[in-house]
Amino acid sequence: MSQSSDHTQKGGFETRAIHGGYEPDATTGAVIPPIYATSTYKQDGVGGLRGGYEYSRSANPTRTALEGALAAVEQGERGFAFASGLAAEDAILRALTSPGDHAVIPDDAYGGTFRLFDKVARPWGLEHTPAHLADLDAVRAAIRPETKLVWVETPTNPMLSVGDIEALAALAHDAGALLVVDNTFASPYLQQPLTLGADLVVHSTTKYVGGHSDVVGGAVVVRDLEVAERIGFHQNAMGAVAGPFDAFLTHRGLKTLGVRMDRHCDNAERVVDFLCSHPAVGTVIYPGLETHPGHEVAARQMKRFGGMVSFRVNGGEEAALRVCESTKVFTLGESLGGVESLIEHPGRMTHQSVAGTALEVPADLVRLSVGIETADDLLADLEQALG
Ligand code: PLP
Repeated sequence: MSQSSDHTQKGGFETRAIHGGYEPDATTGAVIPPIYATSTYKQDGVGGLRGGYEYSRSANPTRTALEGALAAVEQGERGFAFASGLAAEDAILRALTSPGDHAVIPDDAYGGTFRLFDKVARPWGLEHTPAHLADLDAVRAAIRPETKLVWVETPTNPMLSVGDIEALAALAHDAGALLVVDNTFASPYLQQPLTLGADLVVHSTTKYVGGHSDVVGGAVVVRDLEVAERIGFHQNAMGAVAGPFDAFLTHRGLKTLGVRMDRHCDNAERVVDFLCSHPAVGTVIYPGLETHPGHEVAARQMKRFGGMVSFRVNGGEEAALRVCESTKVFTLGESLGGVESLIEHPGRMTHQSVAGTALEVPADLVRLSVGIETADDLLADLEQALG
């Protein structure tokens, strides 16, 4: 069973997103990968597999098509689709580290990623050190002889700090470690870390890749076949795979990623302009702002600056909570990357699990996932919520 034929991996981003990993079905000509709702496959004699399919934890054609498309958009060798972003992360940790190893992680990692490292991987024997990834000296200092992974989010969730992927890859490789980039916030449309030297890309495809807030999923894309083999082995051995219905939805979302991301970016830029001149708003955090410390690096490694915007509200936590509870077009909720705009209070919601740690986020912080609605309606909504 192969992920794709060669030509579906070529061409511009949108061509790869739409055609990558799948050619019209040989039997029916179906233009879209069918949902293969089957757990098993008829064998032509013992071991006589048609196209390599044996059992749907190991492989399912709907998932294979998605995995090929993910590899195509990230320009990797192989893609793997999981039941969630955290399942994808867990597979990387188990496939590529052993008890006694060490990882460097962002000092403002997504709370669930931190929880996985701190509460699951550490008791199992994988140590970690949080470091500010925008500070290469801090990352260098955090690396130990046992470091096997340097784990990067860029931009980070929710502080939107930016790490220099090329420089971090060089640091990791000098230390004999692999560089993993969580590319969830940028999406493969805005940033392709494997082309900048990263070894693995991980996604919560729940977010921009799926894009419609209707499916939870995760992905790993790798550029090296030996690493691919280890991830593939663990995907099958641990079994947290994307089911065929989820794979179908995620793949459908991926096809429109480019056009959606451009609108997310257009709207985010309008929102940032508005917030920057609003008296109730303190700092606005967006990599597209020239005042953002990671602006120059972001401009070099990202096509545009994304749809995520964080800001601090004058008046502290109480004022920030009031804003979150007052919007009408922005829905108060966790998650991000869907067509609809969301607002949340990271300290009390997505990042509650890092409260009291070095990763704690400011209490007056509000995070926006700017959707693709009419921009004027988003600005009017924020105006009334900020009072
Ligand atoms: N990585 C980032 C940057 C995230 O924001 C999230 C979820 O919010 C995850 C990973 C985990 O993904 P999932 O919720 O699909 O397990």
